[in-house]
Amino acid sequence: MSDNCIFCKIISGSIPSEKVHETQNIVVFKDINPVSPVHLLIVPKKHIPSINDLSGEDAHLMGDVFRVARELGTTIEELEKNYRVIISTGPDAGQVVPHIHFHLIGGRKLTWPPG
Ligand code: 5GP
Ligand code: ZN
Repeated sequence: MSDNCIFCKIISGSIPSEKVHETQNIVVFKDINPVSPVHLLIVPKKHIPSINDLSGEDAHLMGDVFRVARELGTTIEELEKNYRVIISTGPDAGQVVPHIHFHLIGGRKLTWPPG
């Protein structure tokens, strides 16, 4: 938990969100400003600012993130098992919230490269 972190506040429930899934270590909620018909944020409950701050002790947690991504990606019918998982690191890569999170987007034809 980090003071003034918007995702820590969502995790603690002091800021509301549309939660769609929760495990012991991870919460998944709808992005407030979706860029595609399905736009979820997979967020570890532990306050880790970015990939740059991961350590070996987070290996199991990162495995859990991808297990959750697979579960959502293969069970949300609208996705038809086609989706993208995105992690932005640092402001020039588009990271706005400094609490590690994984965008899961889909439900439309996605293009490449991203902006
Ligand atoms: P970033 O740009 O840091 O990778 O992604 C942050 C994401 O969090 C953005 O897509 C933004 O729309 C979303 N977001 C920011 N504030 C809130 C909030 O208060 N609630 C929800 N549900 N999403 C938020
Ligand atoms: Zn946080």
